[in-house]
Amino acid sequence: MAFQTDFNRDGSGPRFGGQRILLVEDSRMFSAVLCHRFQTELGLNVIPCSSRKTLQDALAMDGHGYAMAVVDLNLPDAPYGEALDCAMAHNIPTIVFTATFDLQIRDRIMQRNVIDYVLKDNEFALDNLVATVRRAMSNRKTRVLVVDDIGSAREVLVGLLRTQQYTVVEASSGLEALAALEAYDDIELVVTDHHMPDMSGYDLTRRIRQRFGSDKLRIIGVSSSNDRMLSARFLKAGASDFLYRPFVAEELQGRVANNVETLAHLKQLRAAAACDYLTGLYNRRYFYDQGPKLVNDCLRRKAASSVAILDIDHFKRLNDTYGHEIGDLVLKAVADRLATIFEGSDNLLSRLGGEEFAILFPMMDSAAASNFCDEIRSDISRLKVTADDEALSVTVSIGVAEISGYETFDNYLNAADQFLYMAKHKGRNIVYSDARMTAEAAQ
Ligand code: GH3
Ligand code: MG
Ligand code: MG
Repeated sequence: MAFQTDFNRDGSGPRFGGQRILLVEDSRMFSAVLCHRFQTELGLNVIPCSSRKTLQDALAMDGHGYAMAVVDLNLPDAPYGEALDCAMAHNIPTIVFTATFDLQIRDRIMQRNVIDYVLKDNEFALDNLVATVRRAMSNRKTRVLVVDDIGSAREVLVGLLRTQQYTVVEASSGLEALAALEAYDDIELVVTDHHMPDMSGYDLTRRIRQRFGSDKLRIIGVSSSNDRMLSARFLKAGASDFLYRPFVAEELQGRVANNVETLAHLKQLRAAAACDYLTGLYNRRYFYDQGPKLVNDCLRRKAASSVAILDIDHFKRLNDTYGHEIGDLVLKAVADRLATIFEGSDNLLSRLGGEEFAILFPMMDSAAASNFCDEIRSDISRLKVTADDEALSVTVSIGVAEISGYETFDNYLNAADQFLYMAKHKGRNIVYSDARMTAEAAQ
């Protein structure tokens, strides 16, 4: 089980693997900067168009498969937003990028169901536009549950959210909403009406909160009631936010986006807290957090599990001979190899610290775990790490202990550490365990 996350190492958020985006913009400066940023920061494949004519040509050549369009409202050959009409006619979800703006223009834009509009009137315009595209792209992977007993009211909400590119699930009652939360384990946001026949919105909120904290699921209450206490009651029941109907589309959009973003930040923080910075593997904290749960699971099922500590041999000598940086390279190479070996398995791999790694093998006794570890030992002894034109090799020693009764988690690791110590004592590049000790004694 290797460490994985949706986010880049630099924390810049998800990338969108070469999906195509149309950029309709006549300013060369804006176009050049945006092309570069969409490509490098978001991983998008940008098709730039400097006029309505080039947009039409591009769509005539290939009218399908665009993830999105960013369209300037004023182009020399399309001064009244005709390029927007053109993109919308091809059903391409569109973000408007405009220098001219007033309420009339706003109403015109919003009627066309654009994803969003970004104004060019400030120094943050480009940053805002990149963030808006990133958000719209990642919204597609965000599942939102809309709960409302009145079909037409639900449709308005669903329409607004789908325009924002969210993946939407609908429920027409509180009970249906609870069933939907059972059916989909990736719902991140619930938007719920208050007055419903089977359950009020805040009763539903309370019931959801018994199972999901606000760090896992966000809830926004909505209502057309005039009761000003309603928002307070919703928030007290555990809702993350509340909105009165009728909505201002941008307000709903902003609040929904804030909640989704908060959740993404929490996920990013959780991932960073679980990750070892040098190797990208799970760290000691995560191992001590998840390990006891896995062990207890096995003990409850009366099944054995095993824990191993793997330590690179003579690592200090390697550092002293080649320097710390090369030492780091070797550490990363060993970690990468381990990550590949354990990819997709149920075993829990982590870097404990220094040149020490721990592996928990649920449902595996120490004889089986020792055999597995011996393959790992042999695999790593064949690893070549190229540094300063030299192919370095390393060996590891591994101590394995079986877990068959309730003890502190530290005790299990101490036992594995004792066997590691014996492996070192026996000459290194060796796996040693309780199973092997017993086999030796029997000989
Ligand atoms: P043994 O075979 O008995 O395990 O000997 P060893 O030299 O591998 O073990 P020892 O514990 O004496 O030395 C471990 C060294 O690992 C000392 C420390 O400076 C180095 N080390 C710890 N963390 C890092 C790291 O993140 N990067 C590098 N390059 N070195 C590290
Ligand atoms: Mg060592
Ligand atoms: Mg050590």
